[in-house]
Amino acid sequence: MRNMLSNVLDRVILGNSPSRRLWFARRMPDGYVRGVQGADFRTTIRLVAKRSAFYRRRFEELGIDPSIVRCPADLGDLYTTSEDLLTHPVEDFLCDKPHAGFETTGTLSPKSKKLYFSLEEMRDMGRDGAAGLWAYGIRPEDRVVCALDLPFWNAGPSLRFSAQALGCFLVEAGKLPPQEFYERARDYNFNVMVVEPSWIVSLTAIAERLGTWPVKVMLVGGENMSERSRRYVEEVWKTDLFLTYGQTESFGAGACECFRKNGYHLQELKFWFEIPEPDEEGNGELVFTTLSRRVMPLLRYRTSDVTRFMEGRCDCDLRGLRRISKIRGRCDEMVNCGLGNISPWMIEKLLEGVPGLANDWQVVTTRPGLKDVVEIRVELNNGASDGTVRDAVMASMHERFPDMERNVSMGVCEIKILAQPEGTLRKGRKLRSIVDLRKALFGAEAMMPASTPS
Ligand SMILES: [Zn+2]
Repeated sequence: MRNMLSNVLDRVILGNSPSRRLWFARRMPDGYVRGVQGADFRTTIRLVAKRSAFYRRRFEELGIDPSIVRCPADLGDLYTTSEDLLTHPVEDFLCDKPHAGFETTGTLSPKSKKLYFSLEEMRDMGRDGAAGLWAYGIRPEDRVVCALDLPFWNAGPSLRFSAQALGCFLVEAGKLPPQEFYERARDYNFNVMVVEPSWIVSLTAIAERLGTWPVKVMLVGGENMSERSRRYVEEVWKTDLFLTYGQTESFGAGACECFRKNGYHLQELKFWFEIPEPDEEGNGELVFTTLSRRVMPLLRYRTSDVTRFMEGRCDCDLRGLRRISKIRGRCDEMVNCGLGNISPWMIEKLLEGVPGLANDWQVVTTRPGLKDVVEIRVELNNGASDGTVRDAVMASMHERFPDMERNVSMGVCEIKILAQPEGTLRKGRKLRSIVDLRKALFGAEAMMPASTPS
């Protein structure tokens, strides 16, 4: 929740004008950002200590005195996890009356987390979002289409509040079958498209055959996108495609790319980001505390996304805003197997440049006998043969990941490339990119004694 001073600055000084907000964001000194963070963090702590049943309980369990907490690190072992949101009633987190509720689906659990917001909180994020749209060159005369999945998800509403704050024309098409979208969208002359990564690849394949229309900019939300897919979409539409980073827990974008397309600039006036346990390269799980919310504030929410704070300044206009790198994968998707430690970014790199691949892929590790089998399931474009794809993947491994290749040639691990028809891997909104089927096996083994006493 915001401190009175930051509230006055936000509402009165910056107000509704997206260009004024952007002007300010481009110039605010780091000291100012840290000052606002500190004040708003303390206000948030006081609020949850008074009103949130969940955090009151946690403070008590961990022996935390909220009155002396000054920064996230003072909270010690207190984190909020997806599991907490799934296993406690949403009411336990609420500190004020909500006006809207959304859900977020995980890639691990079939259950959905619920996140509640007030109208003012959504408008607030919308004002910042409008400044972000302005930075991409979007103006009130532009025509925006939202092709994001709408049921229960807040990415669409988050864009709606931003488009309203900017004052541009918006149609919420939702996530239609790409062919239907293509036919219905043509008449509108949309020049800004907000889309999901795998969906836009399918739409682009249609547009490549039947023709594109002029698009000023595309924004992608909801999931990571490979550079290969980005290049394909940009080349066909002759436009720029920017990625945004956020989740339902953050009500839309907490960070976004600039025109350099090299990492996400963070929105640090609204979130306090941390990477509490980085590895030697600085990579680790991104954790954030909400600083402006009063309905359902979250303390040190574990995003499961692995990234790092980028060093050095970006040479764009937003240079004052710190960056995180593109998401390297999810904590629960990093797997140690006979191939080595594998994570989604490696597979992305392994498959880069392999001809004949469609957008989606999935890696499944199994252990049918004594050694690990890594199945790389890829969707092929029409006409591509799995033999050629296999050869290209092995050639790429030879060149880019010699350690992996050694494990395969030593027989530590077997690799299988399984071709799938296009559009069959993805069952829900998000595709789980690395699946470890050995977990069930290892879990069962852990339950048994190592040797049977005679
Ligand atoms: Zn930049």
